[in-house]
Amino acid sequence: MAVPEEEAAARLPPGRVFQLPTDLEHLWDGLDDIGLGLRWLSEVKRADMHLELGGPKWDYKMFSIFYIEEDPGKVKDGEVRLIGPDIPEVAPGTSLPGGFTIRIYGEELTPGHQGYVSRQIGTALQGLEGFMLFGTPDSLWIRINKDVANKLTFAKISQFCYATAKTLVPQIDAVAFFWAVGAPEIGGVEALAPLFAWAKEKYKIVSAKELYDDEDVDTFYGCTICKSLAPNHACVLTPSALPYCGIIGYDSAKVTAELDPEGYVFTIPKGECLDHEAGHYRGVDEAVYEKSNHLVKRVSIYSSVKYPTTNCGCFEAASFYIPEVDGIGLAMRRYTRMTPLGIKFSSLAGMISGGAQNHGFKGLSIAGMASKNFLRGDGGWNRIVWMPSDLKRDIADVIPEEVYDKIVTEEETVDALELKELLRKKGHPIVKMFWKNSEPQPLKLPLAGEDWPEQ
Ligand code: SF4
Repeated sequence: MAVPEEEAAARLPPGRVFQLPTDLEHLWDGLDDIGLGLRWLSEVKRADMHLELGGPKWDYKMFSIFYIEEDPGKVKDGEVRLIGPDIPEVAPGTSLPGGFTIRIYGEELTPGHQGYVSRQIGTALQGLEGFMLFGTPDSLWIRINKDVANKLTFAKISQFCYATAKTLVPQIDAVAFFWAVGAPEIGGVEALAPLFAWAKEKYKIVSAKELYDDEDVDTFYGCTICKSLAPNHACVLTPSALPYCGIIGYDSAKVTAELDPEGYVFTIPKGECLDHEAGHYRGVDEAVYEKSNHLVKRVSIYSSVKYPTTNCGCFEAASFYIPEVDGIGLAMRRYTRMTPLGIKFSSLAGMISGGAQNHGFKGLSIAGMASKNFLRGDGGWNRIVWMPSDLKRDIADVIPEEVYDKIVTEEETVDALELKELLRKKGHPIVKMFWKNSEPQPLKLPLAGEDWPEQ
């Protein structure tokens, strides 16, 4: 029976099918020549890469969609379908677009388990020897090291995922894999277009925001999975605040904390609300203080300017304070041109990663920009002054109509002083709401980890 991603790949050749061992006794058979575990977490430099999938060269055209399928007939247990060349079959240094899906069925599993299951698999994948995995599910960057190129295949990567999933989540009954590697012989990036469109829609569905609001719950959740990258970092998950990795939502954090109470995802009793607009809660401060090795004392969930949440590094987008206009800019990882800060996103991401609290800067998920609490403590969309035109088009339906035309993009300018003039000319709400006598009043941001002066 055809499954959705295969329907989207109808223009591609049928590819090859492999069958993984499904007997619990033999899940790990043949995998002992590849390392697995946190000590293998690594970057793969260009000079060392055998194969690259997605990343900046391809405008991040590489996706991974993990989803719980409710029809058992659509998940043939242990099946791996590969369209395109396998890892040992490409020339060293090859770079291609692509995507893969993992369909999971379990009689006891619901879409609420999605985040938990995908996180187990995703964490295992990051610890695969010679395998670099960056980005978010709809825009990945994978590299495979030359050292493992002759012993690693897509079926073997799938077997790692399969064995991990079956070992850690006994509620899983069946898992099937689908890989598409956009080599010229299968039609290249153009032939994958319907698959990318399918993945984009599917990702929207699997990462859909919850229907209730932060005020409706007494408990938030925290996540420290990325401590291996940033030892003092903790994410805070609320119904309206998706973490920027886009992998785990509020409901899936709840399921994860219930299934694995000693794990990386933990409950945060909200406690007293200290600032409603900024999303400042006593319980969140206490939890983050504990989990950040007593380095971060205060966090405002809806602010990028004052006491923002910390960033490990796997954010797909970020907000940044632009002092020349006392406004906030947005950019995403796939935007490779200049920002009004005079740096590119890659430099910005490097500056704010690592788990410190960087006042003025916050890692974001693009889906999270749809939250009604989005940067509410800073003025919300009335404070957003600049963003890449691509992003503006992609999320046009979440930007308030009255601000949309007034937000400047790189097509108009990336120069902060020209930006100031344009905001004045366009009558951006920031001019009346935040400036004085038509002049911006720049804030002096404290250094990372320091406090704002008492007011
Ligand atoms: S980015 Fe945050 S929510 Fe996502 S895995 Fe890392 S710590 Fe967890």
